Amino acid sequence: MISARALTKTFGQGETAVTALDHVDIDIRENEFFTLLGPSGCGKTTLLRLIAGFELPTSGTIELDGQDITALPPHVRPVNTVFQNYALFPHMTVSENIGFGLKMLGKPSGEIDARVKQMLSLVQLEAMANRRTDQLSGGQQQRVALARALAPAPKVLLLDEPLAALDLKLRKNMQIELKSLQAETGITFIFVTHDQEEALTMSDRIAVMRDGQILQIGTPKEIYDKPTHRFVADFIGDINILEAEVEGTEGNQTRVRLKDGTTMLARSTGDAETQGHCAVALRPESIRVAQAGETPALQGQLENLVYMGSAHNLHLRLGSGEELVVRHGGSTEGMDLSQGAKIGVVIASGGARVLA
Ligand code: ATP
Repeated sequence: MISARALTKTFGQGETAVTALDHVDIDIRENEFFTLLGPSGCGKTTLLRLIAGFELPTSGTIELDGQDITALPPHVRPVNTVFQNYALFPHMTVSENIGFGLKMLGKPSGEIDARVKQMLSLVQLEAMANRRTDQLSGGQQQRVALARALAPAPKVLLLDEPLAALDLKLRKNMQIELKSLQAETGITFIFVTHDQEEALTMSDRIAVMRDGQILQIGTPKEIYDKPTHRFVADFIGDINILEAEVEGTEGNQTRVRLKDGTTMLARSTGDAETQGHCAVALRPESIRVAQAGETPALQGQLENLVYMGSAHNLHLRLGSGEELVVRHGGSTEGMDLSQGAKIGVVIASGGARVLA
């Protein structure tokens, strides 16, 4: 539905020029909950603003439904935006805020009233219709902002960190509400966040960005299980990254030698075949403590034991000096968990990934 090609945006000129987006290619599908995820300054907001039309690209194109919209002004694009600070009109009621965009479009008042009612019901704010928005809680204001942006029935809704101002509990609730709102309306949502957990929970697909570029696009599961880039692996969820050297390939796996001399098989998920120096990525949940009689894949000394509620995290120091965090979900009865205890671990089949 939205296709950007070689999209580049440079701010400033000469020595002070900043390339906020660097030849970005992206295809976003209809009805998709699509998330732009990355650390501060990676270009997420710039990409959103280019799609909205608030900024023009330095080069590259954006198409919507096959039509080139690169140079179209914002108000004629079938796109609407929800901002982080909501930007509501404090002196207007909830209903007036929601109907504001429709009024500006010159819609007849009967049509506006009907649509406002529909939107109030969608975001479950019927009881607040006549209240001024400065008399609402943060979560309620957020819902008004959403209803207002959805009222003109845009094809695409852009959301720039819309939950950032909410406390953790409300934020979790709104994540679920937002996801079901998207499913209910069938509108394409493009959601910006720097919070990996939020991205994993809500998205159909995620684009992970760094330094103005997209490193990987995939479903939350693909991004989590099969990162193609060391940065993506590290940015999403807990992970152990160990330095290694490639020894050769065995079937569809790569044999790697870790710094302490141990060798193991790891799956390759990158596009290019990895050679020479590489990283082995291990999620804590794909490693477990070896049982008596089992040959461990790795061994380390216990440095820290962290209670996590439903599991323990064992922080091991490997012979190479690197740290390895292992999640142990079962009982710790009968285990020697004293500081410095020698602990062997085994790796689940396919649990090790090799990254360039
Ligand atoms: P955040 O999560 O902090 O909002 P972001 O990923 O949305 O970050 P952008 O706001 O897109 O990042 O900024 C990308 C880069 O472009 C940054 O280095 C930023 O300083 C720069 N930048 C953005 N807007 C401008 C501007 N109007 N003038 C100059 N530089 C800008």
